[in-house]
Amino acid sequence: MKSMLKDHVAVGGVVMMLGFALASCDKAPPSSPPKDPTVSVTATVETVAMQDADDAADDPAIWIDAEDPSRSVIIGTNKKRGLGVYGLDGQELSFRADGRMNNVDVRQNVTIGAMMLDVVVATNRTDQTLAVYAFERAARALRPLLSIPSTFGDPYGICLYHSKTGELYVFANDSDSGTYGQWRLFSPDGTAIQAEKLRTFSPGSQAEGCSADDQNGTLFVSEEDVGIWAYGAEPKDGDTRVGVDTVAGGHLTADSEGISLVDEGNGAGYVIASSQGSNSYNVYDRAPPYAFRGAFVIGDGATIDGVAETDGLDVSAANLSPAFPGGVFVAQDGFNVDGPGHKTAHQNFKLVPWEAIRAALKLPRPPATAAENKADFKG
Ligand code: CA
Ligand code: CA
Ligand code: CA
Ligand code: CA
Ligand code: CA
Ligand code: CA
Repeated sequence: MKSMLKDHVAVGGVVMMLGFALASCDKAPPSSPPKDPTVSVTATVETVAMQDADDAADDPAIWIDAEDPSRSVIIGTNKKRGLGVYGLDGQELSFRADGRMNNVDVRQNVTIGAMMLDVVVATNRTDQTLAVYAFERAARALRPLLSIPSTFGDPYGICLYHSKTGELYVFANDSDSGTYGQWRLFSPDGTAIQAEKLRTFSPGSQAEGCSADDQNGTLFVSEEDVGIWAYGAEPKDGDTRVGVDTVAGGHLTADSEGISLVDEGNGAGYVIASSQGSNSYNVYDRAPPYAFRGAFVIGDGATIDGVAETDGLDVSAANLSPAFPGGVFVAQDGFNVDGPGHKTAHQNFKLVPWEAIRAALKLPRPPATAAENKADFKG
């Protein structure tokens, strides 16, 4: 059955969802209107399209070049073949065809043994491992460090947690059961990295997106048909969890998909989640009681198309001048069209200035000291 793309029409800053068919996007899926009024923003950059057709792009991670923020990159999964590295202009800088990489995350300036590393992890569904890389600044490319046997039939979501005590942990889960594991990365001899599994917990059904709040020691987990949970991120934190939002009666429309913390420094910041079934994104406070702060969509711009059916997303408030001085929000687009004819193209990632989202939702300014403190290089 052919479906219609809902046209986003801004009325007084609020977007009404109208059922106009847009022929150029006739592969877009049926979707529900967002449950809440949404504001609309547009992408200013899109990455080059995937090499593969259909559902190939999935999840991004943002790496920041502290010395030259304009050299910062988006690391994106192509779940049919590997990991791409894209500049802030959307061009591909390097690619590793290491397997069917599903999700990806990054933490910078991590000390493991005698090494200071920018660590990238990805779930490799080809060999059921958690692939661990170092991100090399000069080359803007990934260097393999180790592959952790996941013990899962199909490793799916993944995210990193860099604790206040300096430990680096990997969270990853199994697609079918949703069960998560937590591994610690360490180096007994200072140079070789090992992983030890310290914890297992299960949201209850299929989950994928996760994101850790390093400052607060919180792990946000997106359970696709159910909603968003906040778990403790420490290995001893067990099964205790707090609900952030729900599909049933809450602000989410299934699937509850990609999720990411945006750290604005000094305790300020938000959690952003893809409400995939309504082609929109929800914004919550990063701290309890995780108040809902609004929803937005990414509509069609003059040259770059809007975003639908987002799987993974990432967001950073770091100053990435000149293109993204207030930070950047990156989302996978399930239905990319390219060129003047808006021809159906392979999937890609869209980049939206974080400042535009902040302004559209009228989010309060972070504390002044936080603005100076945006050099929090978290993915
Ligand atoms: Ca998808
Ligand atoms: Ca990610
Ligand atoms: Ca999913
Ligand atoms: Ca996915
Ligand atoms: Ca699109
Ligand atoms: Ca496009």
